Amino acid sequence: MKYISTRGLSPAKTFTEILLGGLAPDGGLYLPEAYPQVTRAELDAWRNLSYADLAFAVLSKFATDIPAAELKAILDKTYTAEVYSNGREDSDFSQITPLRTLVPGVHILELSNGPTLAFKDMAMQLLGNLFEYALDKQHAELNILGATSGDTGSAAEYAMRGKRGIRVFMLSPNGKMSAFQRAQMYSLQDENIHNIAINGMFDDAQDMVKAVSNDHAYKAAHKIGTVNSINWGRVSAQVVYYFKGYFAATQSNDEQVAFSVPSGNFGNICAGHIARMMGLPIGQLILATNENDVLDEFFRTGAYSPRGTAHTYETSSPSMDISKASNFERFVYDLVGRDGAKVREFWSRVDAGGAFDIKGMECWHDLPKFKFSSGKSTHLDRLKTIRELWEEYGVMVDTHTADGLKVGLEQRRPGLPLICLETALPAKFEETIIEALGCKPERPASMAGIEDLPQRVEVMDADVATLKAFISANT
Ligand SMILES: *Cc1c(COP(=O)(O)O)cnc(C)c1O
Repeated sequence: MKYISTRGLSPAKTFTEILLGGLAPDGGLYLPEAYPQVTRAELDAWRNLSYADLAFAVLSKFATDIPAAELKAILDKTYTAEVYSNGREDSDFSQITPLRTLVPGVHILELSNGPTLAFKDMAMQLLGNLFEYALDKQHAELNILGATSGDTGSAAEYAMRGKRGIRVFMLSPNGKMSAFQRAQMYSLQDENIHNIAINGMFDDAQDMVKAVSNDHAYKAAHKIGTVNSINWGRVSAQVVYYFKGYFAATQSNDEQVAFSVPSGNFGNICAGHIARMMGLPIGQLILATNENDVLDEFFRTGAYSPRGTAHTYETSSPSMDISKASNFERFVYDLVGRDGAKVREFWSRVDAGGAFDIKGMECWHDLPKFKFSSGKSTHLDRLKTIRELWEEYGVMVDTHTADGLKVGLEQRRPGLPLICLETALPAKFEETIIEALGCKPERPASMAGIEDLPQRVEVMDADVATLKAFISANT
């Protein structure tokens, strides 16, 4: 299996060749040359597999240049009930992603039982083990540099902690994250994890990362890499739980289902699109946004018009507060019949701060074939959904999952079982839960009293030279 760029101008590469990189040299994103197809016989054989075995069945179609026995060992090590339970006993964690049924035909797929209580662990934990494997083979090292306002940074640190050949330099805005988020990251004592609190906002931290990444000589000399959501390894790992959720919610492979996905950078739902293209019987992919509704607007009107950071709202589902959806280009490439020239034309406008509109174009008429629906959810919707679920079912969901439930229930086609993807646990977003329910969410045992642990963090002014000196001193 080879991977090509959505902009059509980069040479084809293998899975391990693109694993440690980011964008393709032409500025595009990597995708398989053709989606591997899953036969009916395979679906029947996969229905009762354990999570790790299912992950092997799916990912061996993508990671064809990793020997089967080695891939199997990596997946067995990654997907264990110990990693995905946080000391809790209130679900069947041997499933890794247990399915919780609210009423017949409406389910929540639990994806947030990993070490940082968000679905990003599902893919990031695998990425940590794949990176270690690939670096070992090449006798190489990697220094991961990133900026975070919360979820991604902690998921990356918990995935990379203690890994051979890897160091993490994670920038966060000093004093801007919740006490819980700070504790989650800064209490890690692993020598290969470096937390850097920047005196500034998230955008200042992000600009520093960009400045270092654009210094190509420094980047090469210091083996700087990233783990952002466009990484193909992350997207492919997320394909697996669409299969797992489908099997858990259905009796036979004749049935179709709907998935509802709280969306920001379009990474999670892109994996659902890929699962459907592979042949998984998905009848509907429901995209849910918060007040930052760029993607909802596209699916309703055909216009993709990123708002820019100055017009991105801060909401109570902060992990979906995005101005540009970095994985969206992958879907658009398929939508326009894999025409790299068309994608280049669209993104020359987006990259210049503009927009594109497919209304009236051939691909606008093709859009229904891809089975997407969309909708948006606001702060008041979120509070109402959290309250209703708690009162009617005794189930507490976080703010992002609430957005997915609200839009999913509103948009689902009658007759299709609905699977709502849970993207975080309520313990991560205490403030809004208290606003909705008047009580604190329960915290998994692994996170009890985490704010009292000693913290390890370097406070730094938003100065690129200081950052470079710090990286050089610690590598
Ligand atoms: C990252 C994240 C999302 C958005 O997922 P995308 O793949 O960026 O669309 C939604 N909810 C939570 C809790 C997240 O951390």
